[in-house]
Amino acid sequence: MATVSLEDVRKVYRGGVAAVKGVTLHIADGEFISLVGPSGCGKSTTLNLIAGLEELSGGTLRIDGAVVNGMSPRERDIAMVFQSYALYPHMDVARNLAFPLVVAGMARGDIDARVREVASVLGLEALLSRRPKELSGGQRQRVALGRALVRRPKVFLFDEPLSNLDAALRTQMRGEIKKLHEQLKATFIYVTHDQAEAMTLSDRVVVMNQGEVQQVAPPRELYDAPANLFVAGFFGSPRINLVKPATLAQPEGNVVLGLRPEHLHVGQGPAPAGTLEGRVYLVEPMGAESWVTVEVAGERMVARAPGDFHAPTGAPVWLRYDAARLRRFDATSGRAM
Ligand code: ADP
Repeated sequence: MATVSLEDVRKVYRGGVAAVKGVTLHIADGEFISLVGPSGCGKSTTLNLIAGLEELSGGTLRIDGAVVNGMSPRERDIAMVFQSYALYPHMDVARNLAFPLVVAGMARGDIDARVREVASVLGLEALLSRRPKELSGGQRQRVALGRALVRRPKVFLFDEPLSNLDAALRTQMRGEIKKLHEQLKATFIYVTHDQAEAMTLSDRVVVMNQGEVQQVAPPRELYDAPANLFVAGFFGSPRINLVKPATLAQPEGNVVLGLRPEHLHVGQGPAPAGTLEGRVYLVEPMGAESWVTVEVAGERMVARAPGDFHAPTGAPVWLRYDAARLRRFDATSGRAM
């Protein structure tokens, strides 16, 4: 197991693209940390720098306290799991799992023991003699995970490992990766563009945008106390409502107000005192709840309502919110106030 630390890490690709612009981050031993952000924000580049697959343009990278800037990927003792499984099609599962150990020159008996152990952790025992083409997508991804596990590296790096799977399988494998982390207690660094994956898996989440870290915090804190408008808008589905103070009848100046849809109550019938009046723009039934978009003072806001909420488009409704739930952002800088 290992700590990983980045100090002012930079990457400028040939041609001048500044993909990572000075990232400082200290990852604890055994931590599950996710790098999340929109496509092109520098997540994969950061991961590849940690792996040693890309060369740093600046800064210092340490694994377990030792500077690894010039070290090859092999010397760093890390394992990487990618979204494409890259299994050897002509080898069965057992041989695919054994391969990294064969390459490392381990003795036959030790290899067999290691493969059996990993197969048992991942529930692959019954599949050991199958070829990759005889496996489902989820089973293949599990073998790819197993191949990273057999070497018992200090650090595991994951680059969008679930993005090729269908939605149901993705949720299942997400749970398995979380359980795996609990079992191994190794350091996991996980890249995803999916906010739900980052939230459910991680001890801490690193939110990136345009090559820069926006916030590093546990998931709950990111959600409740986003550092800026970018982070506020990135987490939460439906998205946080970001509106002018006037829309919420707040007498304030140069700020943007943020209010989560679960903190906005929508009601029908005569409007009680102190509520906002609006009209239904759209109702989206989601099963357990409905997302209701309401037009108020020329802006649209989304409220979470019970699953059986019904109202035609244009129907008058009222909205109530708890002012203590409002988040304030500087309208110029976007920073939380
Ligand atoms: P993400 O993983 O967040 O989608 P990347 O780290 O892959 O983002 O990319 C960050 C930026 O660097 C993007 O602008 C991308 O186009 C650029 N980039 C990535 N790889 C290379 C490369 N090998 N050469 C030049 N530019 C690259």
